[in-house]
Amino acid sequence: MEYEEKRKELVNQIKEEGIKKQVLEAMGKVPRHLFVPKYLKNSAYIDSPLPIGNKQTISAPHMVAIMCDVLDIDKGMKILEIGAGSGYNAAVMAEMVGKEGHIYSIERIPFLKQFAENNLREAGYTNVTVIEADGTLGYPPQAPYERMCVTSAAPSIPLPLKEQLSAGGIMVIPVGKYMQNLILAHKLDDGTFREEKLGGVIFVPLIGKYGYREAIE
Ligand code: SAM
Repeated sequence: MEYEEKRKELVNQIKEEGIKKQVLEAMGKVPRHLFVPKYLKNSAYIDSPLPIGNKQTISAPHMVAIMCDVLDIDKGMKILEIGAGSGYNAAVMAEMVGKEGHIYSIERIPFLKQFAENNLREAGYTNVTVIEADGTLGYPPQAPYERMCVTSAAPSIPLPLKEQLSAGGIMVIPVGKYMQNLILAHKLDDGTFREEKLGGVIFVPLIGKYGYREAIE
């Protein structure tokens, strides 16, 4: 089966989970097979995480769908992503914000920063900037952000991320070590946060100054 047909099937499967039309349309456009290592291209439209090197993964499509759905993304938004990985989640958000919006995506592993950048270029996305840095510090040059999507699990919400989110902004972030919970955090106008627990998830750890310490091999 051709990639396009497989992608349609995957999107139809995800639709069953009650995901918004805008997210489904974006996922229907992004060529996920360009965001996985060559030897995994035939598995690109299976609803599963896949290895992308350096012990990291491209998240399962339904997880990308859930995170983009709860973030309530609109055209023109400026979004910060922590954990570019393959660049796929950034591409889905890039479709959703359109040409007038922009995604800043941080990746700590140099090989993956390059992988994400190459994949996004090959897929034709010009409204995503990939930055090699410790994402737990946020990205002050472009702050504040209307939305934040953290794609690795933190011990708690990093303070710099809280500070760099706009008032009225929304962040989604997995929190916890072994038992992780997906947290949806709304920043209120007075700077305080209202947090909602969306349920159990499994992500690789967020490693950095306001995250976990680097794993000892
Ligand atoms: N969003 C990615 C995608 O669409 O392919 C999947 C991300 S993967 C589950 C998590 C990523 O977070 C890994 O690439 C990992 O290297 C990165 N990461 C972990 N800690 C980080 C940090 N402090 N700053 C930036 N990236 C980090």
